[in-house]
Amino acid sequence: MRVAVVGSGFAGSLLARVLTVQGHDVVLLERGTHPRFAIGESSTPLANLTLERLARRYGLDDCYDLAAHGRWVVRFPELERGLKRGFTFYRHHAGRPFAVDGTRTERLLVAASPNDHVADNHWLRADVDHHFVRAAVAAGVEYRDRTDVTAELLKILGADFVVDASGPGGFLARQLDLPSALHRMHTRAGLLFSHFAGVRLFADVAPGLPAGPYPDDWAAVHHIIDEGWLYSLRFDHGITSAGFLLRDPMPGTPEETWRHLLRRYPTIGALFRDARPLMPLAFRPRVQHRLTRAAGDGWAMLPHAFAFVDPLFSTGIAWSLRAIERLASCFENGLPIERDLSRYDALLGAEADQIDWLVAGAYRAMAR
Ligand SMILES: Cc1cc2nc3c(=O)[nH]c(=O)nc-3n(C[C@H](O)[C@H](O)[C@H](O)COP(=O)(O)OP(=O)(O)OC[C@H]3O[C@@H](n4cnc5c(N)ncnc54)[C@H](O)[C@@H]3O)c2cc1C
Repeated sequence: MRVAVVGSGFAGSLLARVLTVQGHDVVLLERGTHPRFAIGESSTPLANLTLERLARRYGLDDCYDLAAHGRWVVRFPELERGLKRGFTFYRHHAGRPFAVDGTRTERLLVAASPNDHVADNHWLRADVDHHFVRAAVAAGVEYRDRTDVTAELLKILGADFVVDASGPGGFLARQLDLPSALHRMHTRAGLLFSHFAGVRLFADVAPGLPAGPYPDDWAAVHHIIDEGWLYSLRFDHGITSAGFLLRDPMPGTPEETWRHLLRRYPTIGALFRDARPLMPLAFRPRVQHRLTRAAGDGWAMLPHAFAFVDPLFSTGIAWSLRAIERLASCFENGLPIERDLSRYDALLGAEADQIDWLVAGAYRAMAR
């Protein structure tokens, strides 16, 4: 039984490894090479619980260590990560500095862990994805990068089952001509993003904030603005991943939009006053995508190939890891049977709807 996994992000590589541990013959196909830049960096307690379960079930001790900040730093100091103690929210108002005003301060800290040792992490995806692909190869996965994957190649490789882990690359969507279901989605946002050096700490630009359950910046930080929100994820080596999610398109180049928003929200402007983008600012007019099906006869998709809603609430990594668990259980006794694939398809569809409703509702609430 030969399984082809298309796409070697962390999810494709990890699934390929798990299937190999189960005894399947797996080929992992990647159009690019590692290490490579990727966004989608902030893990959550659900993601880490799932990583730990996968670690125990399939004997993947690296996954166990990557599931908590303290263990990660000791075992894999060379893999860059950022301490994530929770979810920090600030509401900014156009033309006004962020106001520190006792209990009226528009700040919310949602703690996700009690201490740094067991805390979640932001994953520097270039490092982490590279680790997962190397671990897959070490486990016996056949890996081919710089590969133009076609239906003919899959036939030549003798694939009995194809898993699409190509993310928004949409490999199977094109091969199977699957219709988009984007019209079903309520969330709509464009993204303006980069990685930055020199982003200041929030306490330095808004002094006087009382101490919270964790230091504000060691978190997934959400700066809510009239136009949407800005995420800011600080890695331990000082680089920050940041991006504006914008409800409506804005005129101008990415640089002009970036400068306009920093001027409009002075405290965000102060945070990024000395910051330097490490790569050109990139703009995606819409980050959402969604297909009509996630699995069928002889194929299945990982979530990021099937749908993506929004970075809000950091759902992506956990969703991918849960799907790896589920798909792996479908492969426990050989190739997945139709009933299991239908269930997988239905679950992914329902979860895409739930995430979309939650996030779209949050956007509406944040706009008030
Ligand atoms: C703006 C943004 C922010 C996000 N923030 C978060 C967050 O904070 N927390 C969170 O949990 N999730 C987040 N996500 C979601 C997260 O990015 C995904 O869950 C995660 O990337 C899924 O990993 P993956 O390995 O499935 O796919 P990807 O990371 O997309 O990897 C796909 C791989 O497939 C390869 N590929 C593509 N096409 C082909 C092809 N035709 N043939 C061969 N190979 C191909 C690509 O080169 C790549 O290596 C975010 C996503 C976006 C877009």
